[in-house]
Amino acid sequence: MKRTLEIKDLHVNVEGKEILKGVNLTVNTGEVHAIMGPNGTGKSTLASTIMGHYKYEVTSGEIKLDGANLLDMKVDERARAGLFLAMQYPNEISGITNSDFIKTAMEARLDSENHISLFKFIKELDKAVSDLKMNSDLPHRYLNEGFSGGEKKRNEILQMKMLKPNFAILDEIDSGLDVDALRIVGENVNNMRGENFGAIVITHYERLLDYIDVDYVHIMMNGRIVKTGGKELIKKIDLEGYDWIKEELGIEDVEVEKRQHVVLGSCAINKKNEAKK
Ligand code: ADP
Ligand code: MG
Repeated sequence: MKRTLEIKDLHVNVEGKEILKGVNLTVNTGEVHAIMGPNGTGKSTLASTIMGHYKYEVTSGEIKLDGANLLDMKVDERARAGLFLAMQYPNEISGITNSDFIKTAMEARLDSENHISLFKFIKELDKAVSDLKMNSDLPHRYLNEGFSGGEKKRNEILQMKMLKPNFAILDEIDSGLDVDALRIVGENVNNMRGENFGAIVITHYERLLDYIDVDYVHIMMNGRIVKTGGKELIKKIDLEGYDWIKEELGIEDVEVEKRQHVVLGSCAINKKNEAKK
């Protein structure tokens, strides 16, 4: 059955400041949408708001899942309804192993009488770990504790593969990945494509999208989606950046420019490219 996540004229405040200023976006299962845009434009804010993070205050607009008001649902209810967020900065949790965490999350989605067979679970987890070319000890270590940046990102994708959400929001899963890891992560995301899977892939890089087949590309600026197109937008942004969109739409934002510079400078892939020069 086709499912729909619909965001209408969404306005969100963070600590009293308006960050999202009227976002409109509809994602159906079977579709993969990319959201690109300079840093500080509200991409992560949108991701956290969809998932229900308490810091993000919806001041107007709506988010609906199959017509039902998502904003009335708690975070765990949203997860059980089929939503998944791969975070830009995954948390470290000491004392709970990765595999316990995943199993608990999987079981939380079942009725209380139903359990997951341990044998099936381990088999599936082993396969997912090997698909992602992760170290086989990672599932048995505490969640994200001492994981490298790249391992944390792969771990988010591991959770996604196991949980099989209907809607996945992937927030900059490419940051901190080297070229090989980028390909592995991208291919694993792409393999999730299917009629029961819809995704929002947030990135400010085109590289990840070499491996993920996207249906729509949205450009976000100053808290709004200002342009929507197909894959042709990815190449254009890679070659020309975002200035042409600002010119086209008459947007001026010096602050965003400055922020983007700082963050790009600390990006692993960028450094790698610079080293090549
Ligand atoms: P992006 O993901 O596009 O880089 P973000 O959504 O992270 O942008 O941030 C948009 C703006 O909201 C930034 O100015 C950021 O400083 C602010 N912001 C986001 N989250 C918080 C927060 N938890 N506390 C304070 N400010 C925040
Ligand atoms: Mg972000």
